[in-house]
Order: sequence, then structure tokens, then C-alpha cells
Amino acid sequence: MNNDEIYDVAVVGGGPSGLSGTLYTSRANLKTVLIEREIPGGQLNNTETIENYLGTPNANAEELALTMHDQALQFGAKMVRKNIQSILKREDGVFELKTRKGTIEAKSVLLATGTKYKKLGIPGEEELDARGVSYCAICDGPFFTDKEIAVVGGGDAALEEADYLTQFGSTVHLIHRRDEFRAKPHLQERVKNNPKITIHYNRTIESVNGENNVESLTLCEKDGPLDSIENLPVSAVFIYIGQLPQVLSVHEAGSQQAWVMNDFISVDNNMETSIKGLFAAGDIVDKPIRQVANAVGEGAVAAQYIYQHVQNFPELILMKV
Ligand code: NAP
Repeated sequence: MNNDEIYDVAVVGGGPSGLSGTLYTSRANLKTVLIEREIPGGQLNNTETIENYLGTPNANAEELALTMHDQALQFGAKMVRKNIQSILKREDGVFELKTRKGTIEAKSVLLATGTKYKKLGIPGEEELDARGVSYCAICDGPFFTDKEIAVVGGGDAALEEADYLTQFGSTVHLIHRRDEFRAKPHLQERVKNNPKITIHYNRTIESVNGENNVESLTLCEKDGPLDSIENLPVSAVFIYIGQLPQVLSVHEAGSQQAWVMNDFISVDNNMETSIKGLFAAGDIVDKPIRQVANAVGEGAVAAQYIYQHVQNFPELILMKV
């Protein structure tokens, strides 16, 4: 195989961490391919405003995503729209990234595949998906102007999006399974002071109900008596109960077991995983805080050590031969 056909780095995922990694590696003259299966921006596409990314006060999230994308591609990185299904690290150290229609080869990989929304797993959730059940306030909120809306969850995402949805809904019911939120204090203050938000503490949702569209939720008071089941009429429910990693499986030639990433990924200080040359950054990384700011920083750190890996790559091959 002609080595010219091998990228120095394949970045999988075009959210803030992947775009930052792309910017830094391509600017360092590494032959970079950015692989994204949907639109670039990652979770930025699911929110309206970013208030806490330094230098861009009250940024429109979609515009910020576009700016990041354009800047990341300024130094010659190639972007391809593909869905990577699995990754194989060959014995010569080259990674094969498999798509349905072919393989992309690279000397290193930056996994920046992010997360997807967790589901409640209750009756009606799947059946009424996109018919009132939603995981994206910015995409679907405008459909429910002057309607009663529910938001489920007690983290930053649920509280931020409940507040956002009050510009559409007549009332936003914020339903949380405990009696205190885990969201940041300023977001708690915001929802508590918003007259359009009604908070339902200690409630779990038993089912989403409706014929063709969401009509109501069945709520149950946690630890309450059996008759504490209540019917809450709403036209939509937005579910923000946390995130799950976007799984990809990686096989390393010569190693007995496939390295299946069904959990958040552990990395060292250089953002490198336990497989040499395989780096990870952004929300997929096992860490306590998931913010645009640390995602961007992690992409930059990973790029620095990807550069070193690529510079040493011929030696790696020689060592293995
Ligand atoms: P999260 O912080 O993990 O919160 C998930 C919430 O959903 C928790 O309140 C949890 O309840 C609840 N929950 C989980 N499973 C549930 C279930 N089966 N039924 C009912 N409720 C359930 O998730 P997130 O809000 O999506 O945030 C994820 C990360 O992104 C965090 O690091 C967050 O800081 C970050 N983020 C930041 C911002 C911002 O800074 N503006 C905005 C959005 C997200 P318990 O509390 O009882 O566990």
C-alpha cells in the first residue's frame, strides 16, 4: 500500500472537541480527515445559546458551531460525511476505520463521537417519538406554541431547556425524580423564578399517553401511596435525563479481545487511550464535567500528542517488523 494514501490522523466526530483537534492537527501540517455522519457541531446543535464559552458571550449555538467548523477546515483538513462502524488497529500500527462502503486508513485516530440522549424506557416513549416525545428543545419547541409542555430531568440540560421552552409553551412542567436538582445554582434560580415553570419534585413518569400524539403523562409520586398516580395533560415531553456514550468498537490486531467501548472512555493526561495512537476527547471521555470549554481544550491537547505519535510513526512500524 502507498503510504501517501494513509492520513496522519482521522478525527471521528465533528463536535467542539473533534473540530478543535482538526484545527490543531491540520495547522501542524498533519494530513487530517474529519469524519462526521451528521451536521458538524455535536451537542451545540441541540441548544440555542451558549453563555459560558469564553470570548463569545451569549453566542447563538448554531452560529458558533458553523464558525468552529469553518475555522477547523481552514488549514486543509478534508471533511467526509460517513458513519464509522468499527475500527481495527493493524499490526503495522495503521488504523482501519470501516464504513459501509469502504475503509479509511490513518496513523492515529481521535475519537470525538460524543454522547446521545438517554431514554426513559417507559411505555409510549418510543411509540410517540417525534409525535410529542422529543430530545431536542431547539428542534421541536416551536411546534408547541401556547401548549402545555413537560420537561424531564434535574440536571443542567433539563433546567436550561425548560427555561428556553417557556418562550413557546403556555406552561412548562419540570418533572424531577428527587426533591433537589443537580443543576448549577444559577440555573435552579432561573427556573424557580420563571412564572411559566411549574416544578414537580419526587415524580417519576410511568407512561407517555396519546393516540397519535402525546396527550398526557402518567406521573407517580416517589414513595407515595398507590393513589398518588396522577394524569398530567401535556402536548409534548422533552426528555433530558443524561447522556450515553456513542459506542464504537475497536479491535487491536494481536490482542485476544476486541476493545468494545460501551462506556465512557478512559484516557491519560495526553488524551490517549490504552491503545497507542488512539486518542479521545470531548463528551465521550470519562470525566465529571462536560462543557464546550473542556471539549475544545481536550481536542487541542490530543492534537499535540497525536503530532508526536505521527512523528514517531515510522519507528513504530520498524519496531514491529
Ligand atoms: P446529568 O447532569 O447527568 O443529569 C441528568 C438528570 O436526569 C439528573 O437530574 C437525573 O436525576 C435525571 N435522571 C437520570 N436518569 C433518570 C431516569 N431514568 N428518570 C428520571 N430522571 C432521570 O445530565 P445533563 O443535564 O444532560 O448534563 C450532562 C452534562 O452536560 C453535565 O456535565 C452538564 O453539566 C453538561 N451540561 C452543561 C450545560 C451548561 O453548562 N450550560 C448545559 C447542558 C449540559 P438525579 O439527579 O436524581 O440523578
